[in-house]
Amino acid sequence: MLTNRSVSELRGVGPSIAEKLSRLSIYNLQDILFHLPLRYEDRTRITAISNVNTGQTAVLEGKIISARFQYGRRRSLLACLEDDTGKIGLRFFHFTKAQHNSLMGTELVRIFGEARRGASGLEIYHPQYENVSVSKPLPKTLTPVYPTTDGISQGRYRALIEQVLTILKVSPLIELIAEGISINEALQLIHNPPVDADVTALIEGNHPVQRKLAFEELVAHHSSLCFLRDQINKQRAVNFAAPSSMCAKLIANLGFELTKAQQRVLLEINSDLSRNNPMLRLLQGDVGSGKTIIAAVAAVHAHENGLQTALMAPTEVLAEQHLGTFNEWLAPLGIKIAWLSGKIKGNVRNKELQKIKNGSAQIIIGTHALFQKDVIFKRLGLIIIDEQHRFGVHQRLALKQKGTVAHINPHQLIMTATPIPRTLTMTLYADMDVSMIDELPPGRTKVTTTVLADTRRGAVIERIQSQCARGKQAYWVCTLIEESDVLESTAAEATLTELTKTLPKLSIGLIHGRMKHAEKADIMDKFKQGRVDLLVATTVIEVGVDVPNASLIVIENSERLGLAQLHQLRGRVGRGLTESHCVLLYHSPLGELSKRRLEVMRSSNDGFFIAEEDLKIRGPGELLGSKQSGALQFKIADLTRDSDLLPGVKVKSEQLFETDNEKIDMLINRWTSIPEELSQV
Ligand code: ADP
Ligand code: MG
Repeated sequence: MLTNRSVSELRGVGPSIAEKLSRLSIYNLQDILFHLPLRYEDRTRITAISNVNTGQTAVLEGKIISARFQYGRRRSLLACLEDDTGKIGLRFFHFTKAQHNSLMGTELVRIFGEARRGASGLEIYHPQYENVSVSKPLPKTLTPVYPTTDGISQGRYRALIEQVLTILKVSPLIELIAEGISINEALQLIHNPPVDADVTALIEGNHPVQRKLAFEELVAHHSSLCFLRDQINKQRAVNFAAPSSMCAKLIANLGFELTKAQQRVLLEINSDLSRNNPMLRLLQGDVGSGKTIIAAVAAVHAHENGLQTALMAPTEVLAEQHLGTFNEWLAPLGIKIAWLSGKIKGNVRNKELQKIKNGSAQIIIGTHALFQKDVIFKRLGLIIIDEQHRFGVHQRLALKQKGTVAHINPHQLIMTATPIPRTLTMTLYADMDVSMIDELPPGRTKVTTTVLADTRRGAVIERIQSQCARGKQAYWVCTLIEESDVLESTAAEATLTELTKTLPKLSIGLIHGRMKHAEKADIMDKFKQGRVDLLVATTVIEVGVDVPNASLIVIENSERLGLAQLHQLRGRVGRGLTESHCVLLYHSPLGELSKRRLEVMRSSNDGFFIAEEDLKIRGPGELLGSKQSGALQFKIADLTRDSDLLPGVKVKSEQLFETDNEKIDMLINRWTSIPEELSQV
């Protein structure tokens, strides 16, 4: 079995290389095989220099006719390569004297790289090059390029693969999904495409062999989620009696009718809670669709059954806002709420901890501070997590473990306003049940979005002036590329100064991540009460903040933000009855992708449509943010490209799950490494 054979048996693998391979999660011979090429390079032909275009990657062959140092902003070596048809520059920023000499001394050199527009015309930066004065045949097949790590070159990796492919011929892998081409043939071809292979298909990633492997990988992934789901179904939880008078009273006192979608979701949740295994439900609903009341009803329902609820929000501002809303809704019912955040310390904190422990608080609201060691719940029955994508899986687990007493698990409701395209939900959250609020409360107005160059800032400021003169409020959001609180806060402070000067009649407030908690709470209060007209903010206001009288939001450097984030920010307005506007400022020149993305924002208010477009433009990894993307790092599958495989994947996984768990183990072993904590969910 290849899984029992260590990489150290291969030629050229000593302890140091073995250690480097382990950083790529490669330990045994099978791991080598399933470390798949990232892409292919076509080095089978020599291109004439005169035929090379900008952006083209090509093999060129010729003589170096000059090589001189250049002293610009960065010292570089510029060599000139000439063939019978023309000349091209080769530029090196890191080079040695010896390299310079060897380049100059070579009769005939073969280079490989991407042509771009440089200071001297067409140039190739850091081409790979080799001396072919003694003639050397070109490769006959595509050259695979592997994801590697420092210290393992492509050449070295290929040498390892070749050895394992030879071994594979005598000890083939077992066929786990016996459909179409065999796994052994597929691996041979993908690592070592034959001369007659369909080059275009391989480069585009839709060769039958790649599809076969992607299918297997997706089945492995989906099956592991089936496993997780199965474990949950085997766990025990407290089953709730049907909601009764308190829930009814809460809903009756709201002052609005629940939408059809909200009512449906509540029924779905009730049905989960009535069972004696834990609920694990993802609640999706666009910004402003009214998820908070759903959380409140579920929490009251838990209380009616003598159990506590923990509500965790990703930011202090949002947690604080929930605290306010919950107090307003639940105090009349006599329900007590405890409050925990990183800023609550000392005596105050001890008191809150006491209330949580002795059960005098029935609902506990907070940030990630909820899962610190000394937080002990009396009887936790329900965990609600708001804006889930901001929390890592392990934070969710920590909180869940707290509630697990004598193998009785809390129910979990996970809410997200980041719309996740259906294809992704099926794949990523196959272990969860999904509810969707697909309807906004009545009377909402559409937000009109305008995309403007930041040279038009003056006009935008005038618009704020006129909006606020009419009693409306506005946000001005400062953003930066770097995820730096300090820089972003500084930018916001500078903008505050500028706007205070140009808009002397307005009351302008500032909120950013580096302010003290009390200051933030104070300014949010003033904004809510209408005592601040314009709120200059960083992206801390991104999630959840709810001030219906705000009808204009200006977002600076919008071209740098993801669509999901822009949609979240825009969701701060259009919450009341007035017509609302969103102005997306950008800095010229705008790249092609940015243009497309801002156009998507301009043309649509539909979070799900935007998410689908975002998926097309950027791919799933970025869509869900870097924190989540770990879950999406497939070796070969690409959820956009391979989305048509997904229905079949689901069928196959479920079938395997019913009939052949051993095969699933092997599949998972081939394709994924599940973090230990995940396997305990
Ligand atoms: P989100 O889903 O973005 O968390 P919220 O729960 O903050 O949305 O709700 C947005 C606003 O809509 C809140 O002011 C809330 O009280 C209000 N709201 C929720 N449901 C309804 C409804 N059915 N009818 C009218 N207003 C509602
Ligand atoms: Mg919310």
